Amino acid sequence: MEKLSNPQVTIEILKKYNFAFQKRYGQNFLIDGHVIEKIIGASDITKEDVVLEIGPGIGTMTQYLAEAAGYVYAVEIDRNLLPILDETLAEYDNVRVINDDILKLDIHELIKEDKRTLKVVANLPYYITTPIIMGLFEDNVPAKSITVMVQKEVAARMQAKPGSKDYGALSLAVLYYAEPYIAANVPPNCFMPRPNIASSVIRLTRWDKPPVKVKDERLMFKLIRASFNQRRKTLQNGINNSNELNISKNEVVEALSKMSLPDNIRGETLSLEQFACLSDLLTK
Ligand code: SAM
Repeated sequence: MEKLSNPQVTIEILKKYNFAFQKRYGQNFLIDGHVIEKIIGASDITKEDVVLEIGPGIGTMTQYLAEAAGYVYAVEIDRNLLPILDETLAEYDNVRVINDDILKLDIHELIKEDKRTLKVVANLPYYITTPIIMGLFEDNVPAKSITVMVQKEVAARMQAKPGSKDYGALSLAVLYYAEPYIAANVPPNCFMPRPNIASSVIRLTRWDKPPVKVKDERLMFKLIRASFNQRRKTLQNGINNSNELNISKNEVVEALSKMSLPDNIRGETLSLEQFACLSDLLTK
């Protein structure tokens, strides 16, 4: 069949199945072949790789991924898309569509028999960008790279440095786990329906080894989340108010003083190295 990146082909298939877009699933389908080629190029996939695609939609990018990769697992939450994907991916025998919620699926279990290099590629549903990315990192999904379309402002947050307005928990997670590279900026008219925001394609290439050493990664990220949950609060209040942690204000103040930092400091000024140090001092 002719590719779905031709908008006319997309319109026809949507009509044929009488498909109704679900806003709650963040459904904005790509209708621009050049953008898809950019994503495929940035993701650097080969026939030696296996790809996890999050949210194939009607299969527009999946068609390209199937041609470039050895195998594609495409995880789609919306059951109404399954009959469409059956048709649009019929000619590819290296794609498996899984009807599931990516936030609930056990990805390790899905790929456990597969020895090929895993790469994640997706035009993400924007309402859950952060939990998806953080989940892939924190669950140690063995992906060599994650190449995703996200909101332009989220891409900026992923690359932000301490002290800047965009700096937050997501910036620190990216700093710790991966090297970011913005491959393209994408305007709303490349999607159907058009979103009311601009998008960017970002590739996160996983470090072999994180740039800082920390005794307890999970504790460090709990501290980071607590520090940014309440932006205008001091670090000690943020940590003390967190229901993920059981650390008193005194313990935080003591650790900060060992680091020669003032006790009214805010999380947004701390570097990754400082969060790692704080976490080690608070590891019991
Ligand atoms: N890849 C397609 C494209 O580029 O045209 C569709 C991208 S669209 C922005 C996001 C897709 O993710 C939709 O198909 C949506 O149904 C799906 N989706 C939303 N939430 C999901 C979830 N929790 N798990 C899996 N897929 C999800």
